[in-house]
Amino acid sequence: MFETVIGLEVHAQLNTKTKIFCRCAISFGDDANTNVCPTCLGLPGALPVLNKEVVKKSIMFATAIDAKVNQNSIFARKNYFYPDLPKGYQISQFEVPIIDKGHLVIDFKNGEHKTIGITRAHLEEDAGKNIHEGEYSKVDLNRACTPLLEIVSEPDMRSSEEAILYLKKLHSIVRYLEISDANMQEGSFRCDANVSIRPKGDNKLYTRVEIKNLNSFKFIQKAIEYEVNRQSNAWEDGTYEDEVRQETRLFDTNKGVTRSMRGKEEAADYRYFPDPDLLPVNISEELFEECRHIPEMPDEKKARYIKEFNLKEYDAGIITSTLEMARFFENMISEGATSKTAVTWLSVELIGRLKGGVTIENSPINSKKLANLVKRIDDKTISGKAGKDVLDYLMENDISVDDTIDELGLKQVSDDGAIIAIIDEILSANTDKVEQYKSGKDKLFGFFVGQTMKASKGKANPQKVNELLKGKLS
Ligand code: ADP
Ligand code: MG
Ligand code: ZN
Repeated sequence: MFETVIGLEVHAQLNTKTKIFCRCAISFGDDANTNVCPTCLGLPGALPVLNKEVVKKSIMFATAIDAKVNQNSIFARKNYFYPDLPKGYQISQFEVPIIDKGHLVIDFKNGEHKTIGITRAHLEEDAGKNIHEGEYSKVDLNRACTPLLEIVSEPDMRSSEEAILYLKKLHSIVRYLEISDANMQEGSFRCDANVSIRPKGDNKLYTRVEIKNLNSFKFIQKAIEYEVNRQSNAWEDGTYEDEVRQETRLFDTNKGVTRSMRGKEEAADYRYFPDPDLLPVNISEELFEECRHIPEMPDEKKARYIKEFNLKEYDAGIITSTLEMARFFENMISEGATSKTAVTWLSVELIGRLKGGVTIENSPINSKKLANLVKRIDDKTISGKAGKDVLDYLMENDISVDDTIDELGLKQVSDDGAIIAIIDEILSANTDKVEQYKSGKDKLFGFFVGQTMKASKGKANPQKVNELLKGKLS
């Protein structure tokens, strides 16, 4: 049968304060054309000057993916005409990118791993935005000249699942490094997917189709799956040669289909040449060393959590999948929560309750509050079951954990006297069953536990109930 081959190009917008070749502020959502100057407007005579922060962030990224940094990379002009590109060319890197070969590791649910190659990563400026409104088209150049790091993978992925795992890992790496907001809705992390198929066992690369500008994990997955289907159907129908051509396609998010945007014949000849206004990027030994010290990356953090907190690999993977989640978890630990309970209450209970765009950062429950809840479960003030009621209540009300426990009357009864009183009542109301138990019907123990729990309205500490019942019945 067929094998899917996928290579991804990701544009990550670097989160510098100012643009890549001028001192205009980078912003999202400002009034149109308010953050512009002669350089990013492409006015004649204005000269670009490289922002050093962009280089620093690139070196950090190279370190994270074990890649070589080219000491002298070159900016080139990529020539094409489009209204949102006033200079008539985009400054990019072509022959010598700032970052050469690297790789990252993706983690499957079943605990397996796979290394995905990264061919190169190069710096470029973004274009502006065309806005089409009725019979008018407008151009906003606020985004023109913002720094992008384009990260190009090897065609190493074999399914949409692998593609998503790769993207999520890449996303978490740039977020851990804090070199990009990587906000997909705002377009600061966008992806072009190159997709082809081939008969299984064949090592040749077949014709690829490039699906442009995908900006959510869900759409990327759907677009790839649609495209794989389209290509395999064409192969089976004998129309592959006609229908699968090297071309750029767009994904229609409403209809869930990809459509041809332009073929190879219409592809522009970009007439790349080195930009005479910019010197080669010379990276000094000092700058290089300065930027090699990067924060702990997701894979390292995961390994540390497994060792330090005795987490299962799967749980550690979830907790370290985003920087925000890892920070939340660490805050819970420093507030005194135990790691095992913290993992469950964070990754299952809290995450499961966040709906409709609410994320861990704007969750109504912060790490301190969730840690307090976990502590009350760990010290047996409340049962795990009562904990869920407390969490539901906290999601809706701005109130402390302890006040919630009081208000809902969920405090566990661990006091021997109170539990013994209940047990005595249950036993004397069921003397027949006590006889049966004593003559060997062991199963009845569960009945006594159930009755005691019920009589305590679920508040008796189950462990205590077990202990005390065993004593009474022996
Ligand atoms: P371009 O500049 O035209 O986009 P590149 O050589 O930079 O071309 O490659 C773009 C991407 O396409 C890379 O991520 C690469 O891994 C991927 N790719 C190349 N050939 C194939 C193929 N046959 N099937 C799937 N992906 C491919
Ligand atoms: Mg491409
Ligand atoms: Zn500017």
